[in-house]
Amino acid sequence: MEASMHEIPLARPEIRQEDIDAVVEVLKSGSLSCGPWVERFESDLARAVGTPYAVAVANGTCALHLVVRALGLNPGDEVVTTPYSFVASSNAALFEGATPVFADIDPKTYALCPDAVESKITAKTKAILAVDVFGRLAPWERLAQIAKRRGLFLIEDSCEALGTPRAGSFGEAGVFGFYPNKQLTSGEGGAITTHDANLAALAKSMRNQGRSMDHRFLVHDRLGFNFRLPDISCALLSSQLRRLPEIVRSRAKVAAWYNERLRDLPLRLPMMDAPEGTSWFVYIVELPEKIPERAKDGVIEALRTRGIGAGAYFPPIHLQPFYRNTFGYKEGMFPVAEYVGLRTIALPFSTLMTEAQVDRVGSELRAILESMRL
Ligand SMILES: *Cc1c(COP(=O)(O)O)cnc(C)c1O
Repeated sequence: MEASMHEIPLARPEIRQEDIDAVVEVLKSGSLSCGPWVERFESDLARAVGTPYAVAVANGTCALHLVVRALGLNPGDEVVTTPYSFVASSNAALFEGATPVFADIDPKTYALCPDAVESKITAKTKAILAVDVFGRLAPWERLAQIAKRRGLFLIEDSCEALGTPRAGSFGEAGVFGFYPNKQLTSGEGGAITTHDANLAALAKSMRNQGRSMDHRFLVHDRLGFNFRLPDISCALLSSQLRRLPEIVRSRAKVAAWYNERLRDLPLRLPMMDAPEGTSWFVYIVELPEKIPERAKDGVIEALRTRGIGAGAYFPPIHLQPFYRNTFGYKEGMFPVAEYVGLRTIALPFSTLMTEAQVDRVGSELRAILESMRL
């Protein structure tokens, strides 16, 4: 017991009494799915993001999938995207038989690099899918110029960026996820945000078994899924969404404690120069250029031994066993994503972290780097 009291988890959701009360109200109402809380959450989220429409779905992955499907991407179509992300962002193309084509990232911001995107566009390219990595916006203005000039759809994976001004409002659609490590959580959950009424209507039909747009009960106009998000989840999300500015501020405060304690260590702190107002998703450090092989794994293991949650974030998608085996990707194909992926570590991060815990992570990390002579 003693040991676990001192453990600092990698992520931890903060559910308050008001959130629990909101869920209890739904449970007592008798309307557990497709009730009024779904539309309420959708309008709350649309307002927060600044888009006219939001569509709540079961998780971030199916939100990405529905956007790809609603845009009509087909086998043979190519989607230019980043290898430095969570695997769901490129899998979304594969679900519809389209091909993800990776382009390398910017070594400073870790965002998809617009020049690299340009070089990957072919006659088959239909869309660019970029990610607001760790909550920092991708270079949307430049990506939008390219998309416009080349006649491509633009898809925003904003799963890590809820609360960053304008996140989720670029391109044809933005996508959010509400897994317990995100800024808001309902355990599982996701949403699409868009300016396009037709895309929103299609996504609503597709999440609900392809039902007709006028919601006639058992009329199915197209192939759809059950990707619905229940009222219980939507009430839980609306309740947390009310304090989003506070959540963003308290995460920024934890990040500032880290910045202060880690700035003299031999590490790069990639989010230090993120624009004011960025909604922090994780706290990432980048190990120095010259490191021994597997140094990152050694640091993560040593932190865990000391009761500190840490993880490799992100291992590049193209080097995942499934992508290597299916598409023949190898080391050396996306050198920046690989360089960064070999060095980036996520440290414990949540609104519940105390300054004393950040202190402890900082001093343990300092001791580990010294013992490894990094
Ligand atoms: C969390 C996340 C998703 C979606 O994850 P789900 O677990 O399906 O909700 C997608 N892309 C990125 C970059 C993410 O961080």
